[in-house]
Amino acid sequence: MAARLNLDGEEINHLKVCMIGAGGFIGSHLCEKLMWETEHTVLAIDVYSDKIQHLLEPGNPWSKRIEFHKVNIKHDSRLEGLIKLSDVVVNLAAICTPADYNTRPLDTIYSNFIDAIPVVRYCTDNNKRLIHFSTCEVYGKTIGSFLPQDSPLLKDPAYYLLKEDQSPCIFGPIEKQRWSYACAKQLIERLIYAEGAENDLQFTIVRPFNWIGPRMDFIPGVDGPSEGVPRVLACFSTNLLKGEPLKLVDGGKSQRTFVYIKDAIEAVLLMIENPDRANSHIFNVGNPENEVTVKELALLMTEIYCKVSGELKPEIPTVDVSSKEFYGEGYDDSDKRIPDMTIIKRQLGWNPKTSLYDLLESTLTYQHTTYSRAVKQMISKSHTS
Ligand code: NAD
Ligand code: UDP
Repeated sequence: MAARLNLDGEEINHLKVCMIGAGGFIGSHLCEKLMWETEHTVLAIDVYSDKIQHLLEPGNPWSKRIEFHKVNIKHDSRLEGLIKLSDVVVNLAAICTPADYNTRPLDTIYSNFIDAIPVVRYCTDNNKRLIHFSTCEVYGKTIGSFLPQDSPLLKDPAYYLLKEDQSPCIFGPIEKQRWSYACAKQLIERLIYAEGAENDLQFTIVRPFNWIGPRMDFIPGVDGPSEGVPRVLACFSTNLLKGEPLKLVDGGKSQRTFVYIKDAIEAVLLMIENPDRANSHIFNVGNPENEVTVKELALLMTEIYCKVSGELKPEIPTVDVSSKEFYGEGYDDSDKRIPDMTIIKRQLGWNPKTSLYDLLESTLTYQHTTYSRAVKQMISKSHTS
């Protein structure tokens, strides 16, 4: 492989990347990128490896460059040793499905704050660079959400655009336990920032804005618990695979911007390979062009799923469900999430490329190919039992 150059035209050295949470959705795509397109080595840490099993099979050309370590970072003394062996640490480990934030707030806070503290500490103590995954949810609600619904100010980006260095973080009251995740992530961001300021930790913080694509979460009853509630892509995919209406929480009026996982992973690779441009920065990583309401997302996914699967358009594509019924007590929602892209464009020259239609078409083709047979079997089993 010819030497690869970074954004400043310097040769990129081979790196040993300690990736914590490597067996999850983002981790699996980052491992693929590093194995297929670079010469870097990965120490992959997770409690699960199913989503990266295809990379771990012996005999692959990259076999010597990836090692899986089944480690639970809550209580495993091997963690510091693995960090010491690496050049850069990428921390993805977290509980990060909204259905858990209000129903398992303690696990959520421990996972996103307490369990991340030793990782930060070991990076500071051993002088290792840390790329830590936070979330766009640290912004919480927009300032605009407090304006009357007919206010002309709602059209002014000052009231909704989310900027890393300017926007406030606005959460609901404590009894709305939805915000346990955002609050834990905010505090770990502040801890990392303070380690940078007081102890010279070299860090980058990533705020993903709804990254979606193949291998995200699970299909309940097929490769995850039957009663589990994954994130919206997997919820709607499950409804489509089962031929049932998509459930719109509180009418599906919240807005989101979705970015294709493969575009977003390009941004992470740029951060890994351009430390001088990425250190000490917080980056929004999303696609501001791909904004929809959740209801629009549901209708678009239905249209595209029918196209890729050959199924007929359903007569009743969606049903409304209250958030209390769907998520339980203590749920609350972010109203709108549009990332400001100034910092990532300036530092890394990164721009997402894939339209919402195209990313949903490739993702739903994957969902249909991977799951439709298993879902049909699950349905026929439940009819016969
Ligand atoms: P994911 O749940 O698919 O992956 C997280 C992985 O971390 C899982 O494989 C899990 O087994 C592992 N993990 C959790 N606790 C662990 C522990 N104690 N020890 C070892 N491994 C552990 O989630 P994802 O979508 O890949 O998200 C990765 C990161 O990005 C998370 O920090 C999440 O908060 C953040 N994030 C993602 C999105 C998105 O759009 N996907 C949005 C906002 C933030
Ligand atoms: N949502 C929905 N139906 C579902 C799952 C989710 O209407 O079956 C909504 C949810 O209330 C939120 C949005 O879709 O407004 C995105 O949810 P997701 O779980 O992906 O996470 P979030 O973007 O809130 O972090």
